Amino acid sequence: MRILVVEDEDAIAEPLVAGLQREGFDVDRAATGAAALDESLRPDLVLLDLRLPDMDGLDVCRALRKRSAVPIIVVTARGEESDRVVGLELGADDYVVKPFGVRELIARIRAVMRRTSARPQDEGPLHVGALVVDARARRAQLAGRELELTPKEFDLLTALASDAGAAISRRRLLEEVWETTWYGSSKTIDVHVASLRRKLGDPGLIETVRGVGFRLHVA
Ligand code: CA
Repeated sequence: MRILVVEDEDAIAEPLVAGLQREGFDVDRAATGAAALDESLRPDLVLLDLRLPDMDGLDVCRALRKRSAVPIIVVTARGEESDRVVGLELGADDYVVKPFGVRELIARIRAVMRRTSARPQDEGPLHVGALVVDARARRAQLAGRELELTPKEFDLLTALASDAGAAISRRRLLEEVWETTWYGSSKTIDVHVASLRRKLGDPGLIETVRGVGFRLHVA
């Protein structure tokens, strides 16, 4: 897997590139926005600093998104909340705030890759028995009945439906739906599963896999 690190400061970029390479990633580095948009680069994921010498990083984000669905993680400094929001609106998949550790970044990269490689909108709605989950429209139906779900309930259902029949660990759900690996937040999953079961009206549809997590029942 090839990562493009877009960062002008050597003091940040060099240890980052080295850390990613140690984890087995292939890494290209671009020190300017123009270099980041070089079409000969074919990254599987872009790590994009928003403060670049030649261009606004948000314009780089917009340009990348216009031509491809490559996963993008934007890097912002503390206090740049509006950049983060705009970055996500422009199609970035996640963000990290400087200073960040390589381990944290790698966890984010893995979570984003899992999420985007299973991007169901690329293949249209997911069908699992009588359940239809349309991630692009953010709509879910059960036997033709529209489900009124909160955003997290929808994401949880999407995570389960994208790998229906498989036992999905709590850890994976936390990473994919809540973007955290903090195990203390595991209780949150139970609350959301309980409300999702209620809304589905069929408690057997989401099965509890003891000691692991949950599984969407496939008839
Ligand atoms: Ca910078």
